Amino acid sequence: MDLAQRVKNSIRDIPDYPKKGIIFKDITTLLNDGELFSEVIDYFAKKYENVDFVCGIESRGFIFGAAIAAKIKKGFVPLRKKGKLPYTTIAEKYALEYGFDEIEIHIDAFKDIKNPKVLLVDDLIATGGTAEAAIKLIQKIGGDVVAAAFLIELTFLDGADKIRELGVDVDSLVKY
Ligand code: AMP
Repeated sequence: MDLAQRVKNSIRDIPDYPKKGIIFKDITTLLNDGELFSEVIDYFAKKYENVDFVCGIESRGFIFGAAIAAKIKKGFVPLRKKGKLPYTTIAEKYALEYGFDEIEIHIDAFKDIKNPKVLLVDDLIATGGTAEAAIKLIQKIGGDVVAAAFLIELTFLDGADKIRELGVDVDSLVKY
């Protein structure tokens, strides 16, 4: 069975979480399978071994992003919810179903590297609002986002189109 199908089989659907009508894609069941988790990391690591940094979105993007970064021996940069990063940050708001949220990045995350090639990682893309905000932040501090990688894409929400409109490639392993 190919990797995408095995990943699909390992993800657990939780209906009506965190609220009614949402089917939450639970990736903890994938993380529990050490062989498969490692294969997923290797899959992305091989494709993006030439980037300079891996950026991960809080919080499940940290799990996959940090593992990929360590595998290719490149720096990891966390994009965090507002108020969590200790040094000077810039922030970007993005719309939720009700209200908005905000993520931040450290202004010196790419150190002195000019126009570093960056891979953005999260577990799942739904509407694409979170990833769009993340890309804007990375670009504002000089990063060149070569791709946005996700384990899971919910295609019916068209989030990938939003990201492609920003000129960034979308790479999702499993689609629903
Ligand atoms: P969006 O900004 O709409 O693309 O939402 C993506 C973010 O919300 C990611 O960080 C996901 O982890 C989380 N997310 C959205 N929908 C789901 C879902 N159905 N299952 C699990 N996580 C989700």
